[in-house]
Amino acid sequence: MSRVQQITVLGATGSIGLSTLDVIARHPDRYQVFALTGFSRVAELLALCVRHVPRFAVVPEAAAASRLQEGLLAAGLSTQVLVGEQGLCEVASAPEVDAVMAAIVGAAGLRPTLAAVEAGKKILLANKEALVMSGALFMQAVGKSGSVLLPIDSEHNAIFQCMPADFSRGLSQVGVRRILLTASGGPFRQTPLAELEHVSPEQACAHPNWSMGRKISVDSASMMNKGLELIEACWLFDAKPSQVEVVVHPQSVIHSLVDYVDGSVLAQLGNPDMRTPIANALAWPERIDSGVAPLDLFAIARLDFQAPDEQRFPCLRLARQAAEAGDSAPAMLNAANEVAVSAFLERRIRYPEIASIIDEVLSREPVFAVNELGAVFAADAKARSLAEQWLQRNGR
Ligand code: NDP
Ligand code: MG
Repeated sequence: MSRVQQITVLGATGSIGLSTLDVIARHPDRYQVFALTGFSRVAELLALCVRHVPRFAVVPEAAAASRLQEGLLAAGLSTQVLVGEQGLCEVASAPEVDAVMAAIVGAAGLRPTLAAVEAGKKILLANKEALVMSGALFMQAVGKSGSVLLPIDSEHNAIFQCMPADFSRGLSQVGVRRILLTASGGPFRQTPLAELEHVSPEQACAHPNWSMGRKISVDSASMMNKGLELIEACWLFDAKPSQVEVVVHPQSVIHSLVDYVDGSVLAQLGNPDMRTPIANALAWPERIDSGVAPLDLFAIARLDFQAPDEQRFPCLRLARQAAEAGDSAPAMLNAANEVAVSAFLERRIRYPEIASIIDEVLSREPVFAVNELGAVFAADAKARSLAEQWLQRNGR
């Protein structure tokens, strides 16, 4: 490798952002931080700027920008502060940038991630919602710009590692029969169904194996995360929903598997620490130290597998239906879920109502074609408004 790579970290103050900066800091000979972005955690963003000295930092609005600017001046840093979605798109597509970590949570990450794609950057994709919403358009943009798209989601990174290098020729062409997408089952895998009415946001966010942001933690509890990942896998690997099977594996040691026609099944294993897929994607096709401890199979001792229970996890069924319906359905599923999860985190709805809201939104609006980005945002807005109507009608 010839020169130091310039990296933009979108969503630097989050869980994936911090893990990315941890890996980057281990390899100053390879990577330099070009830009960091935050949203609500401005003090944390300032501390990250002091540590990593980026050329640019991005915050959502002017008041946050002046606070950050003051702190940067006091620390003697010349980091330039940019504002809003335009600032995010600028640092994602700047000519100096080699790779962009897309780690903003939710639909808010779509435009900046697409800006990086259109500029032909190497994309380290954590923000699965962006791909779920805009699937075909996103993949067309990748094809057009020649951008290299590397999955950060641990399952998709595992699948990527188990696929042959020429998988883009088509799964049947390269002898792949099925993708086996593993799921931990989250904190409510064994909770009596009647108790799910009363579970709190804190319980939903207490994931048994992974430490993550609050939105994806709730998605993991409801298994909507696995539903979004099913759709993500279909786009990344050009698979049909029927070629992706979800396998509950409570230990989260096998991060997913690929089943070949000759009966071989390749798996990727590792400790549940996102620094492994992050280091894998950052250095691909090389390998670098991630700081993750070696896997101790003797300490793990056993690996268990179960079929997912769709009565317990209705969000998984809803996501599979949206994957099969295609067009506007995944964007609507995603947006309805974002509204429902926020309402649950704000204690306005009970946990089982997340699925009720999504179910109602999907059944009230017929699927429509999404041939351009405007249609994606129309689907997103329609679903948000239907979900808000549910909340109002039910007095929340
Ligand atoms: P966090 O909530 O920890 O971090 C989210 C980041 O996005 C923060 O930097 C946050 O800023 C920023 N952000 C939030 N809202 C906005 C907005 N409207 N505009 C711009 N920036 C915003 O989430 P995670 O790091 O856990 O997840 C990030 C993405 O990675 C998600 O799409 C998730 O699905 C995916 N992912 C995460 C995994 C994990 O282990 N955490 C695993 C696999 C995928 P601030 O904090 O300053 O408000
Ligand atoms: Mg995952």
